[in-house]
Amino acid sequence: MDYNELAELIFPNAKEIEYYEEKYPERNLPEGAMVTRFAPSPTGFVHIGGLFGAIVDRKLAEQSKGVFILRIEDTDQKREIENGTLQIVNSLKDFGINPDEGMIGENEEKGNYGPYKQSQRKEIYQAYAKSLIKRGLAYPCFCTPEELEKIREKQEAAKIRPGYYGIWAKYRNFPIDEAAEKIKNGEKYIIRFKSQGREDRKIKHKDIIKGNIEFPENDQDIVIIKADGLPTYHFAHAIDDHLMRVTHVIRGDEWVSSIPLHLELFKSLGFKPPKYAHTATIMKDENGNKRKISKRKDPEAAVSYYHEEGIPQEAVVEYLLNIANSNFEPWRRANKDKDISEFNLELNKMSVSGAVFDMVKLLDVSKNVISKFTAEKIYNETLKWAERYDKELEKMLTQDKEYALKILNIERGSNKPRKDIAKWSEIKHSIEYMYDDNFANYEFQKIADKEEIKKILKSYIENHFNINDDKQTWFDRMKDLAEELGYAREVKEYKQNPDNYKGHVGDISTVIRVTLTGRCNTPDLYEIMQILGADRITKRINKILA
Ligand code: GLU
Repeated sequence: MDYNELAELIFPNAKEIEYYEEKYPERNLPEGAMVTRFAPSPTGFVHIGGLFGAIVDRKLAEQSKGVFILRIEDTDQKREIENGTLQIVNSLKDFGINPDEGMIGENEEKGNYGPYKQSQRKEIYQAYAKSLIKRGLAYPCFCTPEELEKIREKQEAAKIRPGYYGIWAKYRNFPIDEAAEKIKNGEKYIIRFKSQGREDRKIKHKDIIKGNIEFPENDQDIVIIKADGLPTYHFAHAIDDHLMRVTHVIRGDEWVSSIPLHLELFKSLGFKPPKYAHTATIMKDENGNKRKISKRKDPEAAVSYYHEEGIPQEAVVEYLLNIANSNFEPWRRANKDKDISEFNLELNKMSVSGAVFDMVKLLDVSKNVISKFTAEKIYNETLKWAERYDKELEKMLTQDKEYALKILNIERGSNKPRKDIAKWSEIKHSIEYMYDDNFANYEFQKIADKEEIKKILKSYIENHFNINDDKQTWFDRMKDLAEELGYAREVKEYKQNPDNYKGHVGDISTVIRVTLTGRCNTPDLYEIMQILGADRITKRINKILA
């Protein structure tokens, strides 16, 4: 028996690889176009690092007029969860990331280079495994898990490199006839790659982000097809990246140590490898110590967190671009109002060491992003968020849309918009005093004496308040009130002669602000009063007077 016959015995139905090479031809794209892919496993959970990669993939494809693919790597079916693909599709959608090709639903996909779920590509992998067997570059291995465990124990005891390689690779040079015999007898087996590498030789590789790196060659005879007939990740991804005509692989640097193996697989399969860019892991600063952001310890590791908190997608994307590319911040400073799509991401300007994820900075970016939104957009986004996470807020917003829009429009639309809101989950707190006349407490400040407060409010409502006043008149009359009661009209006057006054106009307006809102810090009081209207103002003042 020869290799060809062995290959036929193992994969009698597999097609010739030429069939697939023709079916998935080179893409006809403009010069320089990048074909990228995001290739998560369907464990239902998109990690912040995954989102980071997907944003970079999406952006590079877009700006080079290439293609961005969403491929699902579901060859490890033990780890899979129900609707895992759909959850990934939706998580990406939450951040405005839609693939040009690949999965768009749990089972729906688009594009001519599919299927885009690895479990649907079994016959393709088998065809390539068959071709490797024919060329003596793959072989069946009959080791049981117990035997493999024994090998591992021996290696450990002797303190040598673990794995299935060299003399440890029991079936590497097993006679073909005997292997065929075992297969015919129904013995269980898997297919292993027959590595041609040597650990004492080095390979050099140029990573787009990390630059030149050097590793020992791979010499492990890794499993390529498992007992269930499905491929392992390493084998599958090489075939997929080749047949999907991927030009650039952007992925987390936990994969960089797989480079020797991956390059060897590409070479043995006769494929030209894509360019690799291994991105720095996103870190977290914990009391001055940097560590990886962890799925177990950090809620912000899951991208669903941002959705639940109501941090707008634009802010998260902008923040991630910020930590992705040193070019971003200066670009943003020079182009305050430009859309992110106009920013040109450069892979070779990506940070090499771990970028620290800084929630305070993210919320700052978010405040800026939200400050540029219209009241209408804030209304729609907040409502969408509230429908899912806060029924009370939903009620507030829908009972009178016009009223809500006016509130959300306070200090907005000018060239110095308010910047106090970082996420939709803060909106309720920031608007609730516009809805409820009963405040749990009143944050009176300098003027806290009950009688003095009453005196101020009484005179204000009787002599100095008219809802039709324009802003200047409104403020002038507040000053009249101050003067009448022995307070300075201007803060400056007060500061020059503090002994001549009880306080200043600011102290007076604080009394009115706290009476009307319960709080000493609010946006523009005049705008608030205009929206509250005369009835509500009178009612709130009378409540204190009583
Ligand atoms: N499926 C791999 C993962 O879950 C993808 C690695 C790669 O991008 O090559 O991370």
